[in-house]
Formats: sequence, structure tokens, C-alpha cells
Amino acid sequence: MTRVTLIKGDGIGPEVAEAMKKVLIAAGADIEFEEVNAGQSVFEAEGSYIPDKVFESIERNRVAIKGPITTPIGHGVRSINVELRKKYDLYANIREIKPCGPLDLKFDHVDFTIFRENTEDLYAGVEERVSEDECHSIKIITREKSLRIVRAAFEYALARKRKKVTVVTKANIMKLTDGLFLECAREVAKDYPQIGFSEILVDNCAMQLVIDPGQFDVLVTENLYGDILSDLGAGLVGGLGLMPGVNKGKDLAIYESIHGSAPDIAGKDLANPTAMILTACLMLEDLGQEDVAENIRRAIYKTLEVKENHTGDLKGHNTCSAYTQAVISNLGA
Ligand code: NAD
Repeated sequence: MTRVTLIKGDGIGPEVAEAMKKVLIAAGADIEFEEVNAGQSVFEAEGSYIPDKVFESIERNRVAIKGPITTPIGHGVRSINVELRKKYDLYANIREIKPCGPLDLKFDHVDFTIFRENTEDLYAGVEERVSEDECHSIKIITREKSLRIVRAAFEYALARKRKKVTVVTKANIMKLTDGLFLECAREVAKDYPQIGFSEILVDNCAMQLVIDPGQFDVLVTENLYGDILSDLGAGLVGGLGLMPGVNKGKDLAIYESIHGSAPDIAGKDLANPTAMILTACLMLEDLGQEDVAENIRRAIYKTLEVKENHTGDLKGHNTCSAYTQAVISNLGA
């Protein structure tokens, strides 16, 4: 049995994590969860956002799945997610954007993957207040980390038989930082002549994504652009409640959905647990349990076919617990 670290997190985290656990157990996943917790609720109880036992568990198991963690906006501690990504050098944030059920979506064909560099850019947290009325944030882009994320995107494209990698920057304005990222992308692209390569500016990319998302295959970009485009992508295929994700390093991975702790619906049994369940599917696939993942994906598809099963984020009225039960009853033998 593979042991993985489970961090339920804040807000809707415990609800969606519990739903995910129930589905995995019902589907017969060969997973044992080692539960530790981090985040605001832990800080309030124990005085630390990430107690040592969380780090110890992650380092022991090398695979973790986590729910969202609340980060104070505009003040207070640095994001715990950013902290974990930096500590374990989880440089690739990978988000596969495709529909997981028969939903009333604006577009018929959306199936692209975003590779977001996860450790530098404006998220490096190098900020200073130079006066009462002026603050600076330093954008850090390095050759080593840019080459690494672009290569990861091309390797993914190769392995999944994808046709094209598109690099997204704003190199017309940020000629040094984004210029370096673009230069690295062009360099790596030469090693993959069998895969198409194109370049696009981030503002145009955002527009193209909402006009004709079917033109994109694999996108590779910096931290901030990747963060924003991932949420845009989620909106194209049904919203944050459906979108899985993973942060990968060399030999350690933390699986987490795109959505946050959703304080507006936390504790009300209203959250959509699909994102967390699909996040677990990504983990199962990487752990060699593709059959279990496929069974769960089919059950989710079947569940979403019935409008009565939809939760509030999909304009339905179902609860998180009833939705979870429906997914379980749709699992194949
Ligand atoms: P959010 O994703 O929590 O919520 C945005 C909107 O989407 C809300 O209306 C919410 O109700 C809805 N929503 C999100 N997930 C849903 C789900 N599974 N089912 C149904 N509805 C869902 O984003 P926010 O409000 O910007 O952030 C809230 C907190 O979460 C902040 O403290 C932020 O820092 C944190 N956050 C954490 C992570 C993470 O831990 N990975 C990611 C993003 C935001």
C-alpha cells in the first residue's frame, strides 16, 4: 500500500478531502493516508502554520495531497503554498484543462495543459516598501529555472503525443526578464523538432483563450501569468470546483486543486468535491493506479450527466455529501 500525506487545509478543505477519501476507498485505491494539517486553523490551535510534523510526513512519503489553505490577503504571513513550493523546489505546476463531464460549456473542444513555473517571478516574495507611498516587487527570472520548466513542458508533450508547445510572455515590455524566459524557450524548442513551437504575448493569449481555446495544446509560462491563465482555463470548462492540479519537483509531488478555501461556503456542505477527487486521480495515475483513476473519472462523468447532482457552483442545489455518494454509486465494479 502506498502511503501519502494528506493535508486537509482550511475552509472547504476538510469537506472536499473527506469526500475524496470516501471515493478512493470505495474505488479500492491502494493508498494509505497519513493525515497532518497545516494552515490558518492549525495556526489558531498550535501557533504555527506548518508544524514540523507536516514537513516530516511530506519528506517521508514524497507524495502529498492537500486541500486549500487560507492566506491573509494584503498582509500577514507569506502564502504557505508558496512556502511549500519553494522549500521542495516544486518547480512545475501542471494543470490539465479539459471538461470532466457533459456540461453546458461555451466551447466543444477544450483540451490544453498549462505548465507554470512555480518558484520564481514576482512570486519570489522579494518586496520592499521604499517609502510610505511607494512599494517595489522584484521579478526574478533565471536561465536555469526557465530552461527546466520549458523542458518539462516539451517532455510532457512528447510523452502525451501533443502537437505544439506555446510559450507565453510579455517580452515586448519586460525585455530582460520575459526576454530571458523567451530566449530559453526558443533554445529548448530546438531539441524537439517533432513538436511544434509558437510564441504569444500574455494579453493576446488571454483573449485567444476565450475566443478559440481549441487552438492551444501545451502552454508554458511564468508564475504570475500561469496562475491567472489557469483560473481562466478553469472558467472555460466549468469552474474552479472541477479543476485538479499538481506541483512537481524532481522527486516529490504535492497534488492540489486550483481552488481556494472558499470561506463563503465553508462548513455548509455546499462545496463541489470534484476538483479534489480529480486531483487524487492525477496522483493515482502517477502512482501506477490508472485503472482506479479511470473508474473514478467515469463515475464523475456519469454523475455530472444528471443535473440534480450538480452543486451550487454548477448552478445546481446538491450538497457535497450527496454528490460524493452519487459518485460512489456510479463507480464500476
Ligand atoms: P476561492 O477559490 O476560495 O473562491 C472563489 C469562488 O469560487 C468563491 O465564490 C467560492 O465559493 C468558489 N469555489 C471555490 N472552490 C469551490 C468548490 N470546490 N466548490 C464550489 N465553489 C467553489 O478563491 P478566493 O476567494 O480568492 O480565496 C479564498 C482563500 O483561499 C484565500 O485565503 C486564498 O489565499 C486561498 N487560496 C488558497 C489556494 C490553495 O491553497 N491552493 C488557492 C487559491 C486561493
